[in-house]
Amino acid sequence: MERSEREKQMSPAERRRRMEARKRRQKERARKKRIRMMILIGGGILVLAVIGLIIFGIVRLVSGGSNGISAKGDTFVIAIDAGHGGEDIGRSNGETVEKNVTFDICSKLKTMLEGQGYQVVLIREEDIRISKEERVQKANEAQADLLVSIHGGYSEDTGASGAISYYNKDNKQSNYLAEKIQEALIKESGALDGGTLEGNFDIISNTEMPAVLVEAGYISNADEALNLADDTYQNDIAKGIAKGIIMSLEKGK
Ligand SMILES: [Zn+2]
Repeated sequence: MERSEREKQMSPAERRRRMEARKRRQKERARKKRIRMMILIGGGILVLAVIGLIIFGIVRLVSGGSNGISAKGDTFVIAIDAGHGGEDIGRSNGETVEKNVTFDICSKLKTMLEGQGYQVVLIREEDIRISKEERVQKANEAQADLLVSIHGGYSEDTGASGAISYYNKDNKQSNYLAEKIQEALIKESGALDGGTLEGNFDIISNTEMPAVLVEAGYISNADEALNLADDTYQNDIAKGIAKGIIMSLEKGK
C-alpha cells in the first residue's frame, strides 16, 4: 500500500528503473537457485559413483578378479607338461636328472588335481622325447583351460637357487596364473622367490590357453638339485603349484 503510494509519486522513468532492478534481483535469485540445485545433483551423482565403485571393488575381490580362468566345458581341463624326456634328459647334476624331476612333479600334480575333481591332460605320459610342436599341438587339441609346464633352472653361477614362474606377456590370465602359482609354490616349498617373469618359450607362447612355465629350482645348484630329486620336496612343489592353479580359477565351476 505504502509502496504503491510512493510509486505513484515517482516519475515514470524512476518507476521503470525500480522495476528493472527488481527483475534483475529476481533473475539473480533464480540463477543462484539453479547453481545450488546443480551442485546438489552433481554431489549426489558423485556419491552414487563412489558407492558404485566400492561395490564393484568388493565384487571383484570376492570373485577373484576379472583375470580368473573359467572352464570351457563342465569341468576344468588342466594340461601339465613335463619338460624334456627320452634322450633329451635336460640338465643334470649328480644323480639329479631334469627329465625325471619334471616327470615326478607332474605325476604328483596330476594326482592332486584329479583328487580335487579336475580333468588333467599329461602332455608327456612316459619317458619319451616329444618335440616342442607336438607339445603345443597336444595342449591345443585337448582344448585345455590352462597349461603348466615344469622345468628345472640352470645357471653358470652354481650358487644361484630358487623358483621362477614364466608367463606369456600377451596373455593377461597367463600373468595372473603365474602370480598365483609363484605365491603358493614359495609358501609350500620354502624355495627362494625368483618371482614371475615374461617368458618366450614355445609351450607358453604358442598355446591357446593361459600358460605358465615353472622352473622349480636350479639343477646347477648342488643342494637344490638334491632337493629336487627328493620325494617330499617334490610333493611340496606339486602342492604349491596345485594350490596356485586352483586359486586362479573362476569360482562356480
Ligand atoms: Zn628344461
